[in-house]
Amino acid sequence: MCKVCKFGGTSMADADAIRNVEDIIRSDDSRRVVVVSAPGKRFKDDEKVTDLLYRAFSLKDDPTGFCGVFGKITARYDGIIKDLKLDCDLSAEYEAISQKIRASKTPDYAASRGEYLSALITAKYLGFDFIDAKDCIRFDSSRVFDPETTNGLLGSALSGGRYAVLPGFYGADARGEIVTFSRGGSDVTGSIAARAAKALVYENWTDVDGFLTADPRIVDKPELIETLSYKELRELSYMGASVLHHEAIFPVRKEGIPINVKNTFDKTKAGTMILPAAKLPKPRRIVTGIAGKKNYSVINIEKSLLNNEIGFVRKVLSILEKYGISFEHMPTGIDTMSIILADSEFKIPPDRLVEEIKTTLSPDSIAVYSGLSLIAVVGHGMENKKGTAAQICGALFDADINIRMIDQGSSEINIIVAVGTDDYERAVNAVYDSFFRRGASRESA
Ligand code: ASP
Repeated sequence: MCKVCKFGGTSMADADAIRNVEDIIRSDDSRRVVVVSAPGKRFKDDEKVTDLLYRAFSLKDDPTGFCGVFGKITARYDGIIKDLKLDCDLSAEYEAISQKIRASKTPDYAASRGEYLSALITAKYLGFDFIDAKDCIRFDSSRVFDPETTNGLLGSALSGGRYAVLPGFYGADARGEIVTFSRGGSDVTGSIAARAAKALVYENWTDVDGFLTADPRIVDKPELIETLSYKELRELSYMGASVLHHEAIFPVRKEGIPINVKNTFDKTKAGTMILPAAKLPKPRRIVTGIAGKKNYSVINIEKSLLNNEIGFVRKVLSILEKYGISFEHMPTGIDTMSIILADSEFKIPPDRLVEEIKTTLSPDSIAVYSGLSLIAVVGHGMENKKGTAAQICGALFDADINIRMIDQGSSEINIIVAVGTDDYERAVNAVYDSFFRRGASRESA
């Protein structure tokens, strides 16, 4: 059985980083399938190749601007080729790519070329086969990923014990038009490849030691999480833990393949292992990790006897649906409903949305409040366990922080609280201290 290894942008950023990748691959013969990102940042103010490609697309009708940005991109790859002492001339590729970007209607083709060129170079450097994702990662005509066709195509492409490099982040529809996943999507490609190859493990090599119990920009030296379940991972990554794309679990979860997040630049560390819940070691802490996001708003709607009015909630939601607005939480009371949504979801100005709800449903009152942040407290340890919500509320009370909403998922592995954004950092620290510092002894059975 093989291991599928995905290397992120920092691991592909320059020749030294790629030499590290080679060491990792050569040290274990079962590391047969390699998925790569486009070169990322080499230093703080550096630009990621993918960002440059999106910029090149936006300048496609401005020949001077386009050539300036495209030149930076080709210089990045030529620098890598030269430093790796590879005998490889990509000028014909560059010419074809630049022509096609200028003729493209959507940015997908342009954005995908970062991974494409990375994979060509890595395959050549390692002496592995290059498999183009456009031939085996399939999207349907509505640009929605087609998992089963992909699994068949990629499964055959990877069969026979092939050593191969596959570019991350993109695939194509049946007509061969390139479609990309959302940003960070090479993680998803890695997971798709692990499923197709029936891998022993999906190793996701990045520039950090693994998942942390909280955001290190907010909490001082949070602990590393050694094991996570797929569900915990989904909750934490959706709520802002940015190590792995939040859709990366789905393909591997189907086959129960573990994901091991590891640090390319500190390979001896064990990293974080993501497993099916039944395989998690015991005992574990009540809380596995804390994540959070800023920039949320709440729409508060009040109407007397709302509880008796069949269809009220559906009508409100159908207005959101009409504008393609997705919401995160919807706590309701007998005469009230609140809709919590990311500010970026206001596809029409909040005033217009409020007006439409007013005209359609005549509520007694309706108002939008912005400046909310959500904090997710996640862990299987809280299943069937008393007191977790109490401990969160107590920690926030002690820190003199007002809770604007609290929501516990029915799976009982997450509790979400909304606080004012001014209180966000203090709130994360208060909850963290309670579960990981003062409450460290309260472990689940
Ligand atoms: N290069 C793409 C991005 O920057 C995809 C990836 O690296 O996962 O979003």
